[in-house]
Amino acid sequence: MIAVPFHQDPRVVRGFTHFSRAVAVMMSVVALVLLAGWCWNVPLLTAAVPVQPSMKPNAAIGFALSGSSLLLSQDDSGSLRLRLASWLSLAVMTIGVATFGEYVWAADPGVDYLVDDSLMALVFVLLGGLGLLVSARRWLYLREGLAIALLAIAMIGLASYGIALASKHGPLFDRVPIYTTLLLLAVLGWLSSTPTTGLTRVATADTLGGAFARRLLLPALLLPVVFAFVFEMLQSGLGLPETLAFAFMALFSGAAVALLVWWVANLLDKLERQRRETLLLRNDADTDTLTGLANRRAFDDALANLLHGQRKHDAMFSLLMLDLDRFKSYNDDFGHLAGDEVLRITGHLLGTALRPSDLAARYGGEEFALLLPHADISRASDVAARILGAFRGFAWSRRAVTISIGVAQSAAGDDAMDLIQRADAALYDAKRAGRDQAVTATTAR
Ligand code: GH3
Ligand code: MG
Ligand code: MG
Repeated sequence: MIAVPFHQDPRVVRGFTHFSRAVAVMMSVVALVLLAGWCWNVPLLTAAVPVQPSMKPNAAIGFALSGSSLLLSQDDSGSLRLRLASWLSLAVMTIGVATFGEYVWAADPGVDYLVDDSLMALVFVLLGGLGLLVSARRWLYLREGLAIALLAIAMIGLASYGIALASKHGPLFDRVPIYTTLLLLAVLGWLSSTPTTGLTRVATADTLGGAFARRLLLPALLLPVVFAFVFEMLQSGLGLPETLAFAFMALFSGAAVALLVWWVANLLDKLERQRRETLLLRNDADTDTLTGLANRRAFDDALANLLHGQRKHDAMFSLLMLDLDRFKSYNDDFGHLAGDEVLRITGHLLGTALRPSDLAARYGGEEFALLLPHADISRASDVAARILGAFRGFAWSRRAVTISIGVAQSAAGDDAMDLIQRADAALYDAKRAGRDQAVTATTAR
C-alpha cells in the first residue's frame, strides 16, 4: 500500500500568510492611532480603551511592536529580519513584565487597579513569548500552548463584552473591546504566520479535515460571545428570573449545537459528492472501455510512480507483458466482434488473477501489461502461471485462446523504456518457444 503524504493546499497556505500579514499591518496601525490619541488626548480615542491610564500607552506600544515583529517574522530567507523580529517580541515581553511590576510594587494605594490590567500585562508577556518562539521556529508545543492561553484570554474578554453589550450600561463606544479584538487578531495572525506547522497545519490541509477546520474554527471561537450576550440579554435586558434564563440558555445552546451539526453534515455531504464525481471522472479518463482495465495513460502514470519509488526507496516491482496468441487468425476466422469478446474475457481473467494493489492495463490492441508492486520475479512468475492456467481452464465458446507472457523485475537505475524492453524481449522469447507460456527475463539486458 502506498502511504499518502500529508498535503497542504497551496492556495489556502497563501491565504493564511496574507491574512497574517494584513493582521500585522492592522495591529500596528490601530495601535499607533490609539497611541497618538493618548499622546494628544483625543477623547474619542482615549475613551475607547477602558483600562487604567498607564496601561493605555503600554498596550498600544505592545501591539504596535508585536505587529511589526509579526510582519518581519514571515520572512524565511533573511535571518537578519528574523533576529529583528525576535528582538521586537522580546521588547513586547519586557513591556508586559514592566507593567506588571509597576502594578505590584509601585501601585498607588489610592487607585483600585483592575484585574483586567494585570491580565493585560500578562497578555503581553505571553504575546511576546509567542512571537519569540515563532521567530525562533522552535519549541512548537510551548508555542501552541501560549497561543491557546492567549486565545482563552481573548475569548473571556469578548464574552464579557457580550455581557456588557447586553446589559446596556453606559455609552456603547466605551465598551467596544478594541484591545481584546486586537488580541484575538494578534493570536490568529501569529498562528497563521506558520501555516504548515502546529495547530494551523490541519486548517491548511488539502483534506476533509482541513475544509472543516477552516469553516468551523472561527464560529466556534465566537460562540461564547453569542452565548454570554444572549444570557445577559435574557436576564437584564428582558428581566427574566435566573432559572428561566438558564432554561432558555440550555435551549439556545442545544439549538446552536444542532445547527452546527446540521451545517457540518451538509458540508460533509457536499464534499463527499464532489469527491465521488471527481473519482468517476478520473476513472473514465483512466479506463479502457472495451476491457474495463486501466488504459495506456493510467499504465504510464502507474509505471512512472513505481519507478520513482524504486529510485527513492529501492522499492522493487515486476512488470508482465502479455500478448494473445495467433489473434489475427482468430479475427479472420470468427470476425472482429468475436475477437472483441475475447478481449473482454481477457480483461475479466486478468482482473480476477490480481491483488487489489496490482494494476492490469490494456497496453494496446491485444497486448496487456501488469504491474505488481513489491513483487519479485518469483511471485511475478507465480502470477503468470496462474494467468496461463486461467486461460487454459476457461470454457472458450469457439476455439481455445492462449496467451504468452514476458516477465521482468525492476532493477536499480531502470527507466520505463529499459524495463518494458526487458519484458518485451522475454515475451518475444515466449512466442518463439511455442506460445502459451511465460518466460522471465532474469538479467537486465
Ligand atoms: P502472435 O501469436 O505472434 O501474437 O500472433 P498474432 O496474430 O496475435 O499477431 P499480433 O499480436 O501481431 O496480432 C495483432 C492482431 O490483433 C491484429 C488485429 O487483428 C488484432 N487486434 C488488435 N486490436 C484489436 C481489437 O481491438 N479488436 C479485435 N477484435 N482485434 C484486435
Ligand atoms: Mg500483438
Ligand atoms: Mg498476438
